[in-house]
Amino acid sequence: MKHSLIEWTTHTWNPWEGCTKISPGCLHCYAEHNSDTRWGRVEWGPGGKRRQILSTWNDPHKWHSEALETGKKSRVFCASLADIFDDHPSIQPEWRHHVWKMIRETPCLDWLLLSKRPENFAKFLPDDWGEGYQNVCLMVTVENQVYAARRIPLLLETPARRWGLSVEPLIGPVDLSQWIDPIDWVIVGGESLTGARPMNPNWVREIRDLCHVHRTPFLFKQWGWWTPDPIPNWNQRHIFPDEEVVHYRGNTKLNGNLLDGEYHLAHPFRERLTPVEQRLARHLNPYELASFLVP
Ligand code: SF4
Repeated sequence: MKHSLIEWTTHTWNPWEGCTKISPGCLHCYAEHNSDTRWGRVEWGPGGKRRQILSTWNDPHKWHSEALETGKKSRVFCASLADIFDDHPSIQPEWRHHVWKMIRETPCLDWLLLSKRPENFAKFLPDDWGEGYQNVCLMVTVENQVYAARRIPLLLETPARRWGLSVEPLIGPVDLSQWIDPIDWVIVGGESLTGARPMNPNWVREIRDLCHVHRTPFLFKQWGWWTPDPIPNWNQRHIFPDEEVVHYRGNTKLNGNLLDGEYHLAHPFRERLTPVEQRLARHLNPYELASFLVP
């Protein structure tokens, strides 16, 4: 099997959908590609309106109850169809208020907040953010060196219990060495969808090796639509200047996430609640419980 069954996140939660493309990593935005839903199409860009998704509005409460019952923690990615730090006038303050309240009310879930807009962190983080909520990993997406240099310093200026990087889609070499020490998690992935840009396996190896040296959890999520594996009877390939070759298959699932014969699925989160935490949860409200949980 070329694809691990372990995913980088357990759940995905979208309080609203719609966004504006802001950097080269957005070119083949997966969310825009999937924006024609049963409720009709969401218009992308500054002229479009973001749309609240009410049908799943309270799902995290359900996941939190499951975590308390089973003792198994889970990770929630917020949001795959939007950027919650998007500064668009159609996003109502109550929507953001609901996100922060939901995160506070679910201390046994680990929340992954990813953004390409760290310049808006200070504006939209809640007043009681302090040193960061204990259950939030604040992350920026960096697709190449230019955006690494723009976004990572802004991330590191923002207090958070954990800082993460989503290096996806990786469309150029990225040297993370000057920022890696305080970083708690690095995820790398290649691009999917028509027109996907090839990812040089050596770019991935460099990040993997750096994380290894610095003992930073590294998760290789996917090759995307290009793979280093030769595909029989199929000639479409890309040769990089360093002579690395990748082949176009157009199938993320088949290409999988095996890198040099190994899966890399490390993360910095605890998998389980302790029995004491589970017992405490029966007597405390979520706000009290949060102060007892070790991140
Ligand atoms: S920031 Fe994310 S959701 Fe928004 S357009 Fe870019 S890739 Fe799509």
